[in-house]
Amino acid sequence: MGYTNSPLVVYTKLSPNHSGQRTHSIDRITPHCVVGQRSVETLGSIFAPTSRQASCNYGIGVDGRVGMYVEEKNRSWCSSSNANDQRAITIECASDTTEPYAFKDVVYQTLIKLCVDICQRNGKKKLLWLGDKDTTLAYTPKADEMVLTVHRWFANKSCPGSWMYARMGDLASKVTTQLGGTQVETPAVTDTEKTIWDFLFGKISNAYGAAGMMGNLYAESALKPGNLQNSYEKILGMTDAEYTAAVDSGSYSNFVKDSAGYGLAQWTYWSRKQALLQFAQAAGKSIGDLQMQLDFLWKELQGYTSVLNTLKTSTTVKAASDAVLTGYERPADQSDTVKEKRAGYGQKYFDKYAGAKTDKPADTCTAAKVIAVAVEQIGYKEKASNASLDSKTANAGSANYTKYARDFDQKYPNWYNGKKNGYAWCDMFVDWCFLTAFGYKKALALLCQPERSAGAGCTYSLRYYKAKGQFHTNNPQPGDQIFFGTSLDNSTHTGIVESVDKKQVHTIEGNTSNQVARRNYSLTNSRILGYGRPAYDGAPVETPQPVTESEAVPFLVRVSITDLNIRKGPGTNYSRTGQYTGKGVFTIMEVKSGQGSTAGWGRLKSGAGWISLDYAARL
Ligand SMILES: [Zn+2]
Repeated sequence: MGYTNSPLVVYTKLSPNHSGQRTHSIDRITPHCVVGQRSVETLGSIFAPTSRQASCNYGIGVDGRVGMYVEEKNRSWCSSSNANDQRAITIECASDTTEPYAFKDVVYQTLIKLCVDICQRNGKKKLLWLGDKDTTLAYTPKADEMVLTVHRWFANKSCPGSWMYARMGDLASKVTTQLGGTQVETPAVTDTEKTIWDFLFGKISNAYGAAGMMGNLYAESALKPGNLQNSYEKILGMTDAEYTAAVDSGSYSNFVKDSAGYGLAQWTYWSRKQALLQFAQAAGKSIGDLQMQLDFLWKELQGYTSVLNTLKTSTTVKAASDAVLTGYERPADQSDTVKEKRAGYGQKYFDKYAGAKTDKPADTCTAAKVIAVAVEQIGYKEKASNASLDSKTANAGSANYTKYARDFDQKYPNWYNGKKNGYAWCDMFVDWCFLTAFGYKKALALLCQPERSAGAGCTYSLRYYKAKGQFHTNNPQPGDQIFFGTSLDNSTHTGIVESVDKKQVHTIEGNTSNQVARRNYSLTNSRILGYGRPAYDGAPVETPQPVTESEAVPFLVRVSITDLNIRKGPGTNYSRTGQYTGKGVFTIMEVKSGQGSTAGWGRLKSGAGWISLDYAARL
């Protein structure tokens, strides 16, 4: 089958960063998150320079427009996997810059359309999400099947972010439905309760919030979208079904002003009922239609900013439930008894649908959490003797007595290989912050330390990270443990990285001028030995940079001509060495843009010089 490109594209800026024609037919789609709410034009300029060493087939800008950077026939450089990119259409989607890297709805809707289009043009009737790396990569798709893959399977990245990752199944099912194929993955959901949960959780992306809302809906309507307020069934002489049918047919015309509560949220006030009715009519749906009511509820909630914000951020069902009760439903009775009752309903849904699967925030290990603990300690002064240890400033001195060492000595005697109070305490301070933030076991795991270790010493601490491959000499991240000294075998001081900017790393340290304090260093400060990087939950180990999805050099290229000149530098303005590569496969160690080559210049591993990548196909 010949390759084509999407008619949905409204902006094209072809990137030189690709491998030429793909070696595998298209049977995968890989959606990515840009890590930035960028436009298609910005993406185009990001992928334009050869120095970027990255590209994608399509991009979806923040406004939902589609850009093309690498034609479908060519292999883009997007997913950190040659094998994947040879067979995948890669799509960069504008997203937030932090977890969960959410997309705007318009971007997601476009992604659905684009996937439908890609499948149709490539002869596919189904888009599959198999949900698991090993299963997916081992799967051989049938001729009419397209398979979804994600970047995080091929590199240590969060991409496409947890927002999109949670929707991969939804994407597959929506696209497959539009393709008219039969779904194999997720059976159609018929259960009202499950439908409501999936909708709310999908929108709110927070299980506590979804459960808090759901408990309230249960209290209002027992989750029956056709529910007419009981007292009005008698007043109007109609059952739920009769009322719904009468409103739909128009034979009952007082829906808006009859003051009868109706539907999932028991909408009562005339202007809200009017809006609901208009919404149903515009959608061509029954007033009792579940999906219509959910869509309406979500639309209405956009006007309740503070309730919505609580739903998205609450860390308990109760907080979310209370917010809905007092800010959205606002029934006459908002007593504590009612609050407890509704939160109780919500908790049941939480336990049923989110319980074991959802990481409670309290159990999540994030860099932010340990930094918060460290910030609290700023100003704590080392003591002159083993007294007043819990006071921040009393008994200040320089005898190395601290509450940090005391806690290890007394409460956690198995943490170190002996008692530590009275000794240099910079490393104990770091350990103490982790212990306080995450508890004993998780703290040890994050610090890469065994029990009864010599982890109170900086050099030993450094080595524990190094042994696990979690020690880095540059590119610090918030939450890293920074080490100072004269060599990797002689670390003399340590602290926690609070933040990083282009020039400096900002830290919080213990035992710096006999206290806990913030410090700043140039990133190039020669005293910095490097950074131990705890494997925090959820967050990508590397902070994602806006579209820096380049594949690292070295990489392989195939040269198919006999007379490709080798030059002394990256450009035709450098002289020829007089040698040719000849046909074959070569390793490129570095890429630079330069005169006379669109795809850039590659430095040969042999040391012979530079070649134009225009004449080399990336493998
Ligand atoms: Zn990616």
